[in-house]
Amino acid sequence: MTSAIRTLWLTFLHLFHKAETIQYPEQQPYLSPRYRGRIVLTRDPDGEERCVSCYLCAAVCPVDCISLQKTAEPDKWTPEHFRINFSRCIFCGFCEEACPTSAIQLIPDFEMSEFSRQNLVYEKENLLIAGTGKVPDYNFYRVAGVNAFGKDKGKALNESEPVDPRGLLP
Ligand code: SF4
Ligand code: SF4
Repeated sequence: MTSAIRTLWLTFLHLFHKAETIQYPEQQPYLSPRYRGRIVLTRDPDGEERCVSCYLCAAVCPVDCISLQKTAEPDKWTPEHFRINFSRCIFCGFCEEACPTSAIQLIPDFEMSEFSRQNLVYEKENLLIAGTGKVPDYNFYRVAGVNAFGKDKGKALNESEPVDPRGLLP
């Protein structure tokens, strides 16, 4: 009995609350920047592809909906093809967490409905965007301790010169 009265009271109080209903799609809902929606591949601040085809996103994906193939270029790894099957994706964000280069990102966009399941298979040209996404300043090759594009080991941002282990001998 008490719970019924309480329910009626709460319902009555909601008569004086502002309605949360919005007129979608004319009125767009606010989505937090952390919202896990459509997945994109981003570029670094120099406009180069961030993805280095390390396969970590594909390995961590619990539903196995990412597939990619590294190019044969010897000096730089980029994906020859990169495919995500959004009909299987559960938008968990594991791929974004695993990516060392911040290439793959989930963005606040949920408008992906399709009548044909096949249209939910996105290829690299559908995924790769022109901008940096949520991480505007990060360039993997500038901070990674690997030789790349004329940068030797020890020359990365905030990186110390390599230590000669023989110099540490007593
Ligand atoms: S969000 Fe989750 S399910 Fe979707 S591609 Fe990334 S790891 Fe796979
Ligand atoms: S998107 Fe990131 S995790 Fe996936 S292959 Fe490219 S660099 Fe690796």
